[in-house]
Amino acid sequence: MSSEDLQEGDVTVSQYSAEPNVAYDRLYVKQRVVKVTRLNPNTPISNKEIRFVCLSDTHSRIERTPDAIPFGDVLLHAGDLTNIGLAAHVDTFNTFLGMLPHKVKFVIAGNHDISFDNSIMQNPQEFTKYIDVTRQYLQSRNLKSVKQLLTNCVYLEDSTAEVCGIKIYGAPWVPQYCDMGFNLERGQALLDKWNHIPNDTDILITHGPPLGRGDLSSMGLRAGCVELLNTVQRRVQPKVHLFGHIHEGYGMTSDGQTTFINASNCTVRCKCTNPPIVFDLPIPAGHSKSELAAINMEDVNLTHKET
Ligand SMILES: [Zn+2]
Ligand SMILES: [Zn+2]
Repeated sequence: MSSEDLQEGDVTVSQYSAEPNVAYDRLYVKQRVVKVTRLNPNTPISNKEIRFVCLSDTHSRIERTPDAIPFGDVLLHAGDLTNIGLAAHVDTFNTFLGMLPHKVKFVIAGNHDISFDNSIMQNPQEFTKYIDVTRQYLQSRNLKSVKQLLTNCVYLEDSTAEVCGIKIYGAPWVPQYCDMGFNLERGQALLDKWNHIPNDTDILITHGPPLGRGDLSSMGLRAGCVELLNTVQRRVQPKVHLFGHIHEGYGMTSDGQTTFINASNCTVRCKCTNPPIVFDLPIPAGHSKSELAAINMEDVNLTHKET
């Protein structure tokens, strides 16, 4: 049996893993691509659904326009909140989050948020001058990590959170592409990370796209991860897979099971002009929206302190 003829649930490293453009040509012909109608953000919010507002790749360019963010119950950010992870910029981003009315906010890091990557903090190499500035900023506030600056959201890094019975998992890893933070080699190293995603995840947030969904760079390269696509389609099958990273790939599609959203707000020229994408999910049986009102962000943050 070829590795591409596996049954649902089995995910192993694809023989085309290291060549995503070849993988796309060989594998993607079997893909179902269903067009998705985007929800108008002005649609009234139902009491039986949670309205999610998606941001990604804002690169320190959105903080002055909090009024441009549509209203919703929960805000999600899929990484690259900054350009180079400077603590002062993370702090500004956190202040911006504090101005938004959404009851709960979930954020992951992207490859540009280098100060969130513990291995870069330990061994900054070419990023030394930026990490030194970040260290000074943190020391002046008696903090150990930039993650502690994110007091107005839940920071997810290979971890799960739950809101009104909806399970959300976040992970920052990307295949080696333009380096910086959270880069891993294609193949087993990334699959090892995706293997941590629980089967019952409803919303998966990764910084990088899966193969073939919002992953085509302006250079014609497929930047998506084959193993991430296989994990999503063969094992996890979340309702929504949210990501960014490839600014050119902004938009949404579905395979009939999962809605794939590339929510990059910045364009390929890094102009923050792509509007936030919103979606609704029904509240599972046994849960209600009143749980949202009862969520105390400080309590949630305590359970997610320093990873
Ligand atoms: Zn970006
Ligand atoms: Zn990125």
